[in-house]
Amino acid sequence: MKIALIAHDKKKNEIIELAKTYKDVLSQHELCATGTTGTLIMGETGLSIHRFKSGPLGGDQQIGALLADGEIDLVIFLRDPLTAQPHEPDVSALLRLCDVQRIPLATNVNSATVMLEALKAHIAFEE
Ligand code: PGA
Repeated sequence: MKIALIAHDKKKNEIIELAKTYKDVLSQHELCATGTTGTLIMGETGLSIHRFKSGPLGGDQQIGALLADGEIDLVIFLRDPLTAQPHEPDVSALLRLCDVQRIPLATNVNSATVMLEALKAHIAFEE
């Protein structure tokens, strides 16, 4: 599966902890991320991640373009709903494209956990 990982600044710690917990699951998949999120997760976990530009500099739109082309299978986007984002239009566009393409999307850590547990179960099932 091709999985996109994105986290707003106040959610970076949560996505790092999530990636550490599910490193074995994530390592079975092709990962991409916005710039800062990807750099932090790679540094903390050693996972291999294709990094796009930072979200506010166009990274959300780059991932959105892949979504539009059907190139992403699952999105974990830990949003900060309590802080105004300068790139809110890009964020909205990315979320909208997930629904257009019916791509599974987790916008908070508990939703992401459910998805990663499902992937983990699937991996175990395949073995
Ligand atoms: P970042 O971008 O990973 O480069 O911080 C995330 C975002 O704000 O969309």
